[in-house]
Amino acid sequence: MMQMLEKTKAPDLPAFCDAHGLEVFENVSLTKYSYLKTGGLARYVIYPRNIESLVCLLTHLADTGRRFKVIGNTSNLLFKDATDYSVLVCTLWLNDLSVANGEIVAECGASLPELSRQALYSGFRGFEGLEGIPGTVGAGIFMNAGAYGSEIKDTLLAVDLAEAGGSVRRIPAEELGLDHRSSSLRSGQLNGTILRAYFKGTPGSIPSIHAKMELFHEKRHRYQDFLYPNLGSLFSGSPYDVFARRDKSVRWMMKYDLWRRRFAKYFLKGTPTDRKWINAYLVKRLGLSYPVQPFSDKTMNCLVNRGQGTDAMIAFIEQMQALTEGRLPLENEILEAF
Ligand SMILES: Cc1cc2nc3c(=O)[nH]c(=O)nc-3n(C[C@H](O)[C@H](O)[C@H](O)COP(=O)(O)OP(=O)(O)OC[C@H]3O[C@@H](n4cnc5c(N)ncnc54)[C@H](O)[C@@H]3O)c2cc1C
Repeated sequence: MMQMLEKTKAPDLPAFCDAHGLEVFENVSLTKYSYLKTGGLARYVIYPRNIESLVCLLTHLADTGRRFKVIGNTSNLLFKDATDYSVLVCTLWLNDLSVANGEIVAECGASLPELSRQALYSGFRGFEGLEGIPGTVGAGIFMNAGAYGSEIKDTLLAVDLAEAGGSVRRIPAEELGLDHRSSSLRSGQLNGTILRAYFKGTPGSIPSIHAKMELFHEKRHRYQDFLYPNLGSLFSGSPYDVFARRDKSVRWMMKYDLWRRRFAKYFLKGTPTDRKWINAYLVKRLGLSYPVQPFSDKTMNCLVNRGQGTDAMIAFIEQMQALTEGRLPLENEILEAF
């Protein structure tokens, strides 16, 4: 009963945001706002300006029983078309990075590329692979983001986590269950919002850190799709490897394709990661069907938005899951209405 009374007494969300210095946008079109450019409307998108106001908002949302989702740059989220979402709490304005006592302290909304650049300026190694990941620190920890053999868990010391009741706890990295593109937060064993993260700075040679970042940047530009909106890798793991392991002819075609691409790279100066040829072969061989090609020409493991709509995207994901017999965990997150 008390709870009911409290719920009816709670001010409406825009009034609460005004009173607490939170920026709120109403009826935001996710087709324009989200990274993949899909989705219906978000009733509210709220931007806290500092960590204290984020904690205050999270407590308020929990107390009033409102459903919400904390988001960073939405670069791993598939919002469904014609689907409305209630409250999105965006961390992008919480992006402070500081260096003290050989550690980097990052607010949850700091971008991963900025984190890796800060590490470069400070002469800390181990962050080079994060340079081209278009996400935030909080989400990066949520899914243990990484590339080129390094992951966020390699340098993470601890996080400050806001739990449902509003309490904030410092949790050592070892207790976050960080594994390949997963964590206890992602699996739901641990609930809460990452507020800040503490990274250890291992001294390295600045020229060699710089050289690695340049190399990874250039590599990413070769294999990543930049033409159509996308969410990076669709699955954690390569569907090509699964198909090749199972099917001898695919294995041979993959080998042939590899040599073909190497030849194009060194002798014809062609696009090294153009996989159109092998993709066309696989589509036929596997019996994939779609109205509009839902994946990148550079890799089948990257869903792209060519205006086909999210039903068609999800149908493709389901086809791929069936074809890989569920062996590859889905890396992108499909969001149902809330
Ligand atoms: C072109 C491209 C390339 C990519 N390359 C890579 C890559 O090389 N390696 C890689 O690992 N990923 C890659 N990604 C995927 C994506 O960028 C990462 O998953 C990134 O960590 C997502 O960050 P975000 O801020 O966009 O998170 P969002 O997509 O906004 O959110 C992702 C999840 O994190 C949760 N979350 C967000 N903030 C917090 C917080 N503060 N506390 C708790 N949970 C939170 C959200 O609730 C959501 O469930 C790529 C994506 C794209 C588009």
